[in-house]
Amino acid sequence: MAATDIDLGAARAALKAELARLLVELGEPIENPGQMTYGSQAAAASQVFEQQRDLALRDRSRIDLHRVEAALRAIDAGTYGTCTSCGKPIARERLEAIPWVPTCIDCARKAPR
Ligand SMILES: [Zn+2]
Repeated sequence: MAATDIDLGAARAALKAELARLLVELGEPIENPGQMTYGSQAAAASQVFEQQRDLALRDRSRIDLHRVEAALRAIDAGTYGTCTSCGKPIARERLEAIPWVPTCIDCARKAPR
């Protein structure tokens, strides 16, 4: 059952904006350390570290992207605002803070990301 007190139009707009932001973020090319001149071992190591950090950020963005897409599908399906874990309605304030949040506060507490 869909929660009726949620502004689906506003949620959809917020989700579309976040989707666009994430796609831009994920579309940025990763710097290739191989193209840089080798100064020292330390410089090379720091480049590898930066690349790994960049990849970690991308993983987070990709997870968020999936959540945003799932939330948009849920709006279309009429199930938006329902916890994907326990099936109970997600608190309106929680959805307004993070429109793509997939679970209710109780489930999020049980399984932190
Ligand atoms: Zn739940």
